[in-house]
Amino acid sequence: MQSPIQDYLASLHSRFAQLREGEPASYIPELAKANPEGFGICLVTLDGVAYSVGDADQPFTLQSISKPFVYGTALADRGLDFVAGKVGVEPSGDAFNSISLNPQTGAPLNPMINAGAIATSSLVAGATTAAQWQRIAASLSAFAGRPLGVDEAVYRSESTTGFRNRAIAWMLKNFAIIDGEPMATLENYFRQCSLLVTCRDLAYMAATLANGGVHPLTAVRALPEEHVERVLSVMATCGMYDFAGSWLYEVGMPAKSGVGGGIIAVLPGRFGIGVFSPRLDSKGNSVRGIGVCKQFSRDFGLHVFNQAGHPGAALSRVYTAADAPSRRQPAGEMRDYLNRNAHRIKYLCLHGFLAVDGVEYVMRRMQEMAADSHSYILDMHQMDGISESAARLLNTARLALMEEGIAVVYSRLQGRPALVKPLSKSVRQDDRGFLAFEDNDLAVEWCENRLLGDTPWPLADAKLPEGSALFSGLSRELMQRVEAVAYRQVFPKGEAILKAGQAGDGRVFFIESGQVSILVPIEGGMHQRVATLGPGMNFGEMVLLGQASRSATVHADSEVRCSILEAQVFEQLTHEAPQIKIVLLENLAKDMADKLRRATLWIAALA
Ligand code: GLN
Repeated sequence: MQSPIQDYLASLHSRFAQLREGEPASYIPELAKANPEGFGICLVTLDGVAYSVGDADQPFTLQSISKPFVYGTALADRGLDFVAGKVGVEPSGDAFNSISLNPQTGAPLNPMINAGAIATSSLVAGATTAAQWQRIAASLSAFAGRPLGVDEAVYRSESTTGFRNRAIAWMLKNFAIIDGEPMATLENYFRQCSLLVTCRDLAYMAATLANGGVHPLTAVRALPEEHVERVLSVMATCGMYDFAGSWLYEVGMPAKSGVGGGIIAVLPGRFGIGVFSPRLDSKGNSVRGIGVCKQFSRDFGLHVFNQAGHPGAALSRVYTAADAPSRRQPAGEMRDYLNRNAHRIKYLCLHGFLAVDGVEYVMRRMQEMAADSHSYILDMHQMDGISESAARLLNTARLALMEEGIAVVYSRLQGRPALVKPLSKSVRQDDRGFLAFEDNDLAVEWCENRLLGDTPWPLADAKLPEGSALFSGLSRELMQRVEAVAYRQVFPKGEAILKAGQAGDGRVFFIESGQVSILVPIEGGMHQRVATLGPGMNFGEMVLLGQASRSATVHADSEVRCSILEAQVFEQLTHEAPQIKIVLLENLAKDMADKLRRATLWIAALA
């Protein structure tokens, strides 16, 4: 299938290729040589996929599109306070080459006009202007995801004719905005403007900003996250110079243009766009570039102030321990009590990136269900992230619910530092932190124990095989004959009583005391618990149905005392007394039916 996005971009391209207004910039002589018909569009998603049409790989010079990236670099190197003392963030509404300086301090109004941009070039890290140039080139290359080189002809052309920019640099020196040698700084500025890019590069640079500062393909952080919103803010208000207001009104995306014919537009959290067409309007913005961005924004409703939210999406599912109990199989009264109360343990599957609106929704649902709840398991498996402020709210809710007697625990958080870190910040002195479980099974077992009371109900020892459900209904006399061939064995805690795959072992085990877990091997040498069994229960009984090798590992969770029957001996016994076999098969069938029912519940709960 040809992507409809690709088709859409192709139609945009052929439509705007008809536009023949505007001329390539000529005040830098070398730029006047550009082919006015060159035209490319590229869209890059946050997972790094590029859709492109036209001259997406034709190189041209970055020009003013370098400005927001160098501004970001200065913020990263010198910090907000220092940079704010040198360059403002007020839109000037003036042309790109205007000398808009704050009358009191001499600070340029913003970093997107030339005055502000020349000032920011002087602010990046580096002991010499040569070192500063290395820093600028490396930083912009990180945004593009490949090393960018200078178009020497364009650089020389601008350097030999840039008298107005030279005047601006001396003004900045006069006001002590530039500390060092202003002409050397200016050469760095000319060079950054002469970096060669394609509109594919532009789209990746934009996507890096849309992606919180991390390049979507190389995964290299090009800008600390805290500065991304600052760069995008000045792009939104000043990126298009004296067209910035109309642009925000009609297109509604932070953007930046350059006299090389490029435009970048950023839709934060969604994607980046690069357009190239050297036909410029009187303000120095690409005519086709503006047309394409306007149309694209309108067709897909992309204006940043027109973003509908979906708070309910934060919670993909709610179900209870009645739908999915733990795999521990308690006996008797304990089982009845849990069955009656399992609905008071609730699983909440959180989903996506949780910000304040999503947390508000989740907290409201927890409050609504509180009267009928004993614990909440927040299943974090489908979570992409959580903002710090949202994590703080969730922690506050956890403490408040705890005061109402409702426990909030997490499951499937391990190996997720982006979630664990914000959630680990305690909101109150008396907060002893949260409980997190590797999987839902362990989490729900903890909640079941809590339901049963702090001291779990004692697991009464069973006398076996008499007390085994496997032999229930057998006459006293026949029972004695079974007991006569059984023997006892004690397994120390931690022992693997049976191993998955092991063959030729014909023992059937009846637990008299202690607890075992049935584990099946899964990928990567790990095990998944399928059940935990206690006194009165049996395992290994499948050998009686002719199964030759063990399907699971059985681990002694505590010291375990078992009563054991050998299948061969048992077989002989049932030859003499077939009634034993009939009862046993009946009971086994009942047991299987029960296991199947539980498995079905689990599958339904997880579907
Ligand atoms: N290098 C150009 C200049 O300083 C950049 C201007 C622009 O792209 N708007 O004039």
